[in-house]
Amino acid sequence: MSIRILEPALVRQIAAGEIIERPASVVKELLENSLDAGAGRIEIAVEGGGIRRLTVTDDGIGIERDELALALAAHATSKLDSTAGLAGIASFGFRGEALASIAQVARVALTSRPAHSEAAFRLDAENGRLAAEPVPAAHPPGTSVRVEELFFAVPARRKFMRRPATEFAHVTEAVRRIALAQPAVAFRLSHGRRCVLDAPAATPEERATAVLGPEFAARVLALEYAAGPLRVSGFVERPVTAGARGEPQYLYVNGRAVRDRALIHAVADAYRDVLFHGRRPAWLLFVELPVEAVDVNVHPAKHEVRFRDQRAVYAAVRGAVAAVLAETRPARAQAGTAGKDSNPREAAATATEVRDFDWTALATGEATAAYARSSHAGAPLAEPAAGPASEPPPGGLGRALGQIGTLFIVAEGRDGLVLVDTHAAHERVLFEGLKAAWNRGGREAAQRLLVPEEVKLAPPAVERLMAAHALLARVGLELDRVAPGAVAVRAVPQLLASVPAAQLVAEVADALAAAAGSGEFVAAAADRVLADVACRAAVRAGRRLTLPEMDALLRRMESTPRADQCNHGRPTWVCLSVEELDRFFRRGR
Ligand code: ADP
Ligand code: MG
Repeated sequence: MSIRILEPALVRQIAAGEIIERPASVVKELLENSLDAGAGRIEIAVEGGGIRRLTVTDDGIGIERDELALALAAHATSKLDSTAGLAGIASFGFRGEALASIAQVARVALTSRPAHSEAAFRLDAENGRLAAEPVPAAHPPGTSVRVEELFFAVPARRKFMRRPATEFAHVTEAVRRIALAQPAVAFRLSHGRRCVLDAPAATPEERATAVLGPEFAARVLALEYAAGPLRVSGFVERPVTAGARGEPQYLYVNGRAVRDRALIHAVADAYRDVLFHGRRPAWLLFVELPVEAVDVNVHPAKHEVRFRDQRAVYAAVRGAVAAVLAETRPARAQAGTAGKDSNPREAAATATEVRDFDWTALATGEATAAYARSSHAGAPLAEPAAGPASEPPPGGLGRALGQIGTLFIVAEGRDGLVLVDTHAAHERVLFEGLKAAWNRGGREAAQRLLVPEEVKLAPPAVERLMAAHALLARVGLELDRVAPGAVAVRAVPQLLASVPAAQLVAEVADALAAAAGSGEFVAAAADRVLADVACRAAVRAGRRLTLPEMDALLRRMESTPRADQCNHGRPTWVCLSVEELDRFFRRGR
């Protein structure tokens, strides 16, 4: 077959196919045009899944009679000024191709009345051909685009259309995606007679609730972060409620919904050590930065963008999400009530006592001895350390009352009954302590041994330990190789001082072996090792704690970031409020 130049009509159809794939892509393009036109209210009426007919009506600036034909022509746009070029695009559109593409593959009626004009006009187009003249029409200020019989002249495409219900589901998703980022604009979507979404102008939070449902709003934390001209805002789910799959995740750059693998990874990275394996948190994130710092001209449907400084954006998104997740700890839940009804002297006494108390000894069960050395020596251990039972409980998690079996601590909290998973909580507290030490990277984290202790290990374990030598030194574990199968331990992490050195080194070597196989980044691997060490050092199920030990753990949780969940994303505590208990016991009446 010889090479021929394609018919212009065919070229246009191919180009149209890049932008218009299905009814949902028509809706996306029309909504973006309405937003660019400054609409305050947009209605989307769909019939037959949008294949038969869909109409988008706005109250924007409108189009002059004499410009209707231009609006439908290829590469005609009012948005891209040739002098400014592609460098600073603030509008959704700029390619001037959407209306022309739609008119290429459907029957289109474009009706508009400019804001200042008394008259409306309509121009029809079909299969790439425009009607000769606009005709007078009835229309309030604004624009309507009606699109009928999508792909009626492109059988190859029409074959790929799904059932109307499926196409409408895609349309709905396209509308939600845009409505989430435009809370100030009212949206209404209907399919036949059925109204599917009616969202009045609202705040970002109200809009998220209207579009994603009240359960989304109940599960997320609001986030607001700024670094110079870069802003990250939105909502992220608390790790403990994250579901198995299908949770909504929406990412916007300057109001444009984008798929950006790097930024999605940045969010995942922020959740790294607080999420139960395989869970998917819901989130809605808006990144805002100067238009010159983003290139939106990367993808025909503009689903992708390129950043001038990818690393800065990555760091900002990761940091913003990590910061808000760090606030998931028991103290926060009670922030409003702290101190209000508690005796200040009592609270101060409790604080000192907690500081004096060597809670790290919990790791091996020397806590009772440690407690005896602290200021409360001699006090009967059976009595709650904070005072008689009539006193208000000290912190957010309250006063420990006892243990159920060996697994759970029962406490009287400010709001009701608090149950704490002993192992999960202790693991978290140790892990965060180790991470803090690692981040400070100082020697203060280390406790030097008077005589270095020699530990025998398999040569590969020694290899791994020595390869991670610098990393380990940062948390206070200082090692030297003394033989192919032995290391000398010179210092151990302060937090784990009570774990026998041989046991600690063996467990660290195991954790390193596990991380080595996973191919993670160095930081992720370090985190994993710390988490592993914390998990192994934490109180094992099976040991009963004393009340002071329990109280010390509760106080520690209140001051530890991310303490609401263990390193695997499971919750560490739960509170059954007095009202909930009341409802439970009186529910029959
Ligand atoms: P682009 O959005 O890339 O400019 P389109 O083909 O989507 O290209 O639209 C072409 C032009 O038609 C726009 O630049 C704009 O001037 C005009 N237009 C399209 N839709 C509307 C609308 N809803 N209200 C006002 N003007 C519109
Ligand atoms: Mg457009």
